[in-house]
Amino acid sequence: MTAVTLLYADFDKPPQPSGRQCFFCKRDLSFTPEADGPISQPSIPPSVAVFPCGHYFHTRCLEIVTPPEKTTDPPCILCDLDENAS
Ligand SMILES: [Zn+2]
Ligand SMILES: [Zn+2]
Repeated sequence: MTAVTLLYADFDKPPQPSGRQCFFCKRDLSFTPEADGPISQPSIPPSVAVFPCGHYFHTRCLEIVTPPEKTTDPPCILCDLDENAS
């Protein structure tokens, strides 16, 4: 296992944001989602959901806003909002 080595390597490096922000909580996709508390960069990047429309979210954020009946095939919440607004 290289977990300890990785931990030290991460400690020496500055946080490296992916440059893409979750459209829901506005945090970088490599950072913890807002629902998980204070902002931090985990050594394992959070799970991310990318939609064909080009929008992306933390999987955690998506889970929060997705109705239970749609969890197997969650819609993009941004596009969903657009449709409902028009
Ligand atoms: Zn998020
Ligand atoms: Zn979308």
